[in-house]
Amino acid sequence: MSDFSRRRFLQSAAAGAFVAPAFVAPRRLRSPVAIASENGVKAVELAVQRMNEGWRPVDAAVAGVELVENDPEDDSVGLGGLPNEEGVVELDACVMDGPSGLGGAVGALQSIKNPAQVALKVMRHTDHVLLVGEGALRFALAHGFVAENLLTEKSRQKWIEWREKRSSIDKWVSPEENGEHGKEWFKKYAHKTGTIHLGAVAANGDVGSCTTTSGLAFKIPGRVGDSPLLGCGNYCDNDVGTGGSTGRGEACILSNGGAFVVHQMALGKSPTDACMEAVKRVVRLTKVKRLLDDQGRPAFQVKFYGIDKSGQFGSAGLYADQFAVCDEKGARLQDLASLYDDKIR
Ligand code: ASP
Repeated sequence: MSDFSRRRFLQSAAAGAFVAPAFVAPRRLRSPVAIASENGVKAVELAVQRMNEGWRPVDAAVAGVELVENDPEDDSVGLGGLPNEEGVVELDACVMDGPSGLGGAVGALQSIKNPAQVALKVMRHTDHVLLVGEGALRFALAHGFVAENLLTEKSRQKWIEWREKRSSIDKWVSPEENGEHGKEWFKKYAHKTGTIHLGAVAANGDVGSCTTTSGLAFKIPGRVGDSPLLGCGNYCDNDVGTGGSTGRGEACILSNGGAFVVHQMALGKSPTDACMEAVKRVVRLTKVKRLLDDQGRPAFQVKFYGIDKSGQFGSAGLYADQFAVCDEKGARLQDLASLYDDKIR
């Protein structure tokens, strides 16, 4: 597609038409492309391999993230994820399939190490999009998933350490802390974030995407982040591309990050520029002082990822970091575009 016809197509899509005009000839990409958070180098490699074997992008994305869900050393996803404040691992995930426009998600799911696979079942075997908690677990068991203890010894030790000091470092906030006097709260009490988002585009331009996480460490039980919320931690539109996020989920939910990235691409922005627009939106919407550092910047990391149908990809975050990508040049890490030059933590 020429740049001109692509722009016209994207503008009509953005205007709400979402019907591919006749002049949009499907163009085969040289290779499928997959993008992920920095813990996803092996995941993007596998996703591209699966798409080369003819898998649908959403299934390839889930196969990729499963490697990370099964890795007990990654304490932000699946098995070995850091637990909630009561020491229970609760997982969130969602998937979205471009060609059908369908999605599926689970929130606060206990005992099942592959929530992205359960989200696929929600998408394919129900009339719903999101199942949470006990209902999500019963649905997973009905589909033959096996319940197991997801708390590894290493994660349990980190939880015990947190619990011993927890009097002032939990996630409960008073209305006063949420106002003027809470200025230093976030910096002091923030915990490491993780998660994997994976966006995939097949050689024929079809897209699919997935995000899976154990969420913020030591969260209040029942807390659901951006990762299982379509339009927040993950979104895709087969006429445009995929968008997703990792980092402080509350900031992504409040800015509807994933859908915003896709919408910016529909307006003609490159994936990197679309992600940077989402970062700036987070900055504009973060007003509470306890979430700001002494320079007035958000005191947390949020990163966005995007691929468009033509296989262009990009990522941007508040602070310097990397992302994983795989295309015809193979799987690798690249620096993302950051609003601030320094690293957080
Ligand atoms: N976005 C995830 C959440 O808020 C956490 C993360 O990406 O580190 O649950």
